[in-house]
Amino acid sequence: MQPSAAASSILKIGVLGRCPRCGEGRLFDGFLRLAPRCNACGLDYSFADPADGPAFFVMMIMGVPVTALGVYVELAYDPPFWVHLAVTLPFLLLACIPILRPFKGVLIASQYLHKAEEGRFAPVDPRAGNCDPSQDTRRAPALAPDNHEGSM
Ligand SMILES: [Zn+2]
Repeated sequence: MQPSAAASSILKIGVLGRCPRCGEGRLFDGFLRLAPRCNACGLDYSFADPADGPAFFVMMIMGVPVTALGVYVELAYDPPFWVHLAVTLPFLLLACIPILRPFKGVLIASQYLHKAEEGRFAPVDPRAGNCDPSQDTRRAPALAPDNHEGSM
């Protein structure tokens, strides 16, 4: 699948839980656990880290109707507490859990498509002429070849 095709079907791929590169392999190895790699194209899923993103979006979307139901039941019927355990809590679970997986799939597909990853510093290339090699702090002076001969 070409990147433009992936962009146009990112929602479909994510909702179906398919590999973001080929669109064929399975993304999940359980309900929410990721497979180590695509079983069709071999894409390594180690890049995928949606963290709390799916839970955040599910809470933000389903929080309003679940809270509205709980408030309505409370104000309309003034029930004992166990009624909320029997009505509001199952509604909360049924509203939130089934959509966690599609949200996770969409976020991972989006992460793959946009190459989203943890920020890093770009490697310094002294040949580019835009830096002073003597100011490159990544080189450890003790490990430089010139310093090893006199230290023995
Ligand atoms: Zn794949």
